[in-house]
Amino acid sequence: MKYDVVIVGCGPAGASLGYLLLKNNIKVAIIDKKKFPREKLCGGLFTYKSKLLYEEIFEKEFTSYINKTNNVNFFKKDNLILNLKTKIPFYLVSRKEFDFDMYKEYINKGGICFTESTISKIDTENNFIYLSSGKK
Ligand SMILES: Cc1cc2nc3c(=O)[nH]c(=O)nc-3n(C[C@H](O)[C@H](O)[C@H](O)COP(=O)(O)OP(=O)(O)OC[C@H]3O[C@@H](n4cnc5c(N)ncnc54)[C@H](O)[C@@H]3O)c2cc1C
Repeated sequence: MKYDVVIVGCGPAGASLGYLLLKNNIKVAIIDKKKFPREKLCGGLFTYKSKLLYEEIFEKEFTSYINKTNNVNFFKKDNLILNLKTKIPFYLVSRKEFDFDMYKEYINKGGICFTESTISKIDTENNFIYLSSGKK
């Protein structure tokens, strides 16, 4: 199979770029060493600006959050030093679910993702990428 663009990593950056490329009729493949859904170490804080970007890219409402708050507390060790009520909300996501949601958006749009694969060799002369899975 021939691709215009090959992305390594199907996290939020790779999946959203892959999705944008598909929307523009560009043939794309993503390679990820993990199988989805996968665990991801993260605090899960998702900003309002990210919500707007998500909605612009995927053209759907951002609903894959587990919590939403306008209440922000700052602590110094165990002492609450400041409490703020923000105008715009902060969202909290489970990265396992959130990244899987974006992965599915990309796949459902027709995207190809080679999971459980890393690149073992790149043949720049003939434009081939060899995967650890043995695929070319
Ligand atoms: C402890 C911690 C807490 C954080 N908390 C927050 C937070 O609260 N809010 C926030 O906005 N950000 C937070 N971040 C940052 C956030 O996790 C990153 O900015 C975000 O994950 C970057 O997205 P990405 O798509 O670039 O990379 P990633 O989400 O890291 O995705 C990269 C993908 O590439 C794959 N991959 C990596 N190497 C290879 C390879 N050689 N071959 C094939 N596949 C590969 C991985 O399996 C993975 O799926 C936190 C980060 C850490 C470490």
